[in-house]
Amino acid sequence: MSIKKSLRSSILLLAILPVIIMAILAYIVATMKYAEINAENTRQMASDYSYGFSSRLEAQVIETSALANSNDIKSYLLEKINAPDVLLNNSSVYYNSIQSTINQISGNFDNNVNYYLYDIDGYLVISSSKDSISDWTEIMMEPISTYKETELIANSEFTKDTIDIVCPIIVKDETIGLIRTNISADYFGHYLSLEDGRENFVLDNNNSTLFGYEITSTEEEHLINTIKEAKLPQVSAQEKELNDTFSENGGYIYGYAIVNGYDWIYVVKEDTSSHTQIVSSLPLLLLAILIVVSFIALQISQSLATRYTEPILDISEKMQAATDGHLDVQCDTDWFGEFGTLSTNFNNMMNIISTNYNEISDARKQLELHQNELQINYESIEKIAYTDALTGLYNRMAFYKYASEILNNSSLGKKNHAIIFIDLDGFKSINDTLGHDYGDLLLQAVSDQLSSFMGEGDILARNGGDEFVILKNNYKGIAELEKFLETLVSIAVHPFVLNEETVHITLSAGAALFPQNGLSLTELMKNADIAMYASKNTGKNSYTFFSATMEDEVNRRNDLIDILRNAIENNDIYLLYQPQADISTGEIIGCEALMRLNSPIVGFVSPDEFIPVAEECGLIDELGEWALVEACRFNQRLIDAGFKPLRISVNVSTAQLRGSRLLSTIKSLPEKTSMPLKYLELELTESVLMKNFEHNLALINQFKDLEITIALDDFGTGYSSFSYLTKIPINTLKIDKSFIANISNDINDAYIAETIIKLAHKLGITVIAEGVETIEQLRILQNQMCDVLQGYFFSRAISEKDFIELLKINS
Ligand code: C2E
Ligand code: CA
Ligand code: CA
Repeated sequence: MSIKKSLRSSILLLAILPVIIMAILAYIVATMKYAEINAENTRQMASDYSYGFSSRLEAQVIETSALANSNDIKSYLLEKINAPDVLLNNSSVYYNSIQSTINQISGNFDNNVNYYLYDIDGYLVISSSKDSISDWTEIMMEPISTYKETELIANSEFTKDTIDIVCPIIVKDETIGLIRTNISADYFGHYLSLEDGRENFVLDNNNSTLFGYEITSTEEEHLINTIKEAKLPQVSAQEKELNDTFSENGGYIYGYAIVNGYDWIYVVKEDTSSHTQIVSSLPLLLLAILIVVSFIALQISQSLATRYTEPILDISEKMQAATDGHLDVQCDTDWFGEFGTLSTNFNNMMNIISTNYNEISDARKQLELHQNELQINYESIEKIAYTDALTGLYNRMAFYKYASEILNNSSLGKKNHAIIFIDLDGFKSINDTLGHDYGDLLLQAVSDQLSSFMGEGDILARNGGDEFVILKNNYKGIAELEKFLETLVSIAVHPFVLNEETVHITLSAGAALFPQNGLSLTELMKNADIAMYASKNTGKNSYTFFSATMEDEVNRRNDLIDILRNAIENNDIYLLYQPQADISTGEIIGCEALMRLNSPIVGFVSPDEFIPVAEECGLIDELGEWALVEACRFNQRLIDAGFKPLRISVNVSTAQLRGSRLLSTIKSLPEKTSMPLKYLELELTESVLMKNFEHNLALINQFKDLEITIALDDFGTGYSSFSYLTKIPINTLKIDKSFIANISNDINDAYIAETIIKLAHKLGITVIAEGVETIEQLRILQNQMCDVLQGYFFSRAISEKDFIELLKINS
């Protein structure tokens, strides 16, 4: 229920409830009071009427005794006693006089009272009424002579509905006749008549009603008995006072009073139905009043409820509006009393809130503005962060971000992507020879060219250094991808012209496929890298698709790197020595130190496998240095043991030739090992020398200055350029074992070997035949005047202990 409704109902209830209570009380009081007044009235009436009744009765008693004392009547009765015959004819003079007197008197009372004169014998002699009973004996059993006083006779058989006053006529103390006055009810007029719903009746001393009044109900009978029993003793005490008791019964009120001078009770029976009617109309009146009061109360409650709830409703409505975000709402401050204060306070509060809100939203706008600026800054920072400064391509970070997004959004099997890893071949040497500026220019030129190959959705990024990475987006089949990879490799076809320098460059590429070769970008990058390395290892300037075996190789390679890193420390690495013998005498003139790796993790590993790994990961410098020291120490131990000094050959790989570390290592050898450097021979391969030729040549000359001899290893496998032989000051030429393997069954190979040997000899170079395994090979080489023999036919690479044993036998 709303506050207004409940307030209105409360006021209404408070207004009407007392009215209802008052009305009920008023009704009760009015009813009681009215009944009391009625009773009083009835009592008064009973008193007044009983007095009237008794006065009239008394008047007839007096009238009757006056008649009894009249001389005419006395004379008439004496005459009758003395001369009865005369009387028979009614010829007496008294007769007519008496007759006219009583007629006249009866006439005075409208003939409601009749007078009867009886003689001593009870015969009716004169009466005012003709039709009535004649003789006394018919009325009363008592003889007339017995009557001495006036008597009232009521309720006798003859005097039904009337009252008789009997008065004796006495002469000289002798009763000579009787006057009977018969009074009908009409004589008493309104003292006995019914009027205005009122009935009056009289009870005699025997509880009988007079004048034929009939008791109408048992209740009335009971009531009358009660009245008589209760009140007659007081009545008989000759109290002429009015008795004040009344009773009410069955719609009537009974008022009664003692009839003056008689033991009778005068009763006024009043019909109260007319009174009840007045009282019963009282509720209707009260209802009408109630309706009026209610209506007024309703009006008042309505206006009061409105007056008290309107401000509340207004404030609450405004609060709701404020809650809905209308911060500019204001309450009406004209409300009376505390409501006005409340409204004012509310308005103040809203002003504060609204001011704060505006400040906050201003601040927020400012913040948004700053955020936009930040966003712009962020975007440019992001651009910088994601762009490779040199080439303008995406950098590695950007590639990870965008390529990952593409892969993550590709539902498996629906789209095929490839990650392609690119590494420029020999970029380092361009940097080294032409300088970094040219290197940068080349990278820019290459990135421009690669960009031109990209299709829609492809991502090209510089991964760092001379590495590039591509996401080939949604290729339609392996054929399309192969074509794309060929295009990439075709970069080698035309040289780049950089500031009038012409530069040839090739690249190695590796491709890993999504989803076949991996689902995550990290995995695909790793696998594309592996495939790229496979391209490098198979001669570069090519592309390779990743395969599972590659991964195994890579894993093994990584294991090897781990082992090599600690190989010296763990004694996993050691040297064996393969003897070199004079081909004509068989005398051991030198040996080649060969590195061996035997790790508890992977077991024995061939140098053909671990040497390239060591070269690639840069560990060859350390291992090579170790080999040089170990080999020289071994050789010195042989010298110290008293053997004829041998020449010790140590292999040097390309990586070791770069920089100046090798030279300083070698210079420190005599001090470290005590071996004179003239017993040291360095074995270099043709390909090693060809790269960075000028640098290497200068280095070799420095070695030569230290009395070190130089051997050209593996001759006949690479370019086999004889021109180098003239340019490089080598001491020894080692014909590769692949060549030697065929000299006994291939006439061409034999011929080539012979030519090499002759040419070398002309240049003053000693020739060693490597990989001699059979006596046939030995015979041919002997015939061709080869100088030195190295091979399984004579000895495999053996331990220091075995070598010493062999030396002992050999000498
Ligand atoms: P290389 O320098 O050509 O060494 C000669 C290789 O021929 C050795 O293989 C040797 O055992 C093998 N050989 C000798 N006689 C015969 C023969 O009659 N028949 C056959 N089939 N092979 C024969 P090894 O020791 O396996 O070494 C392989 C390659 O590893 C070497 O080839 C060399 O390039 C490299 N290497 C070995 N030790 C070192 C080292 O200390 N430093 C460097 N940089 N490379 C080394
Ligand atoms: Ca060698
Ligand atoms: Ca060799």
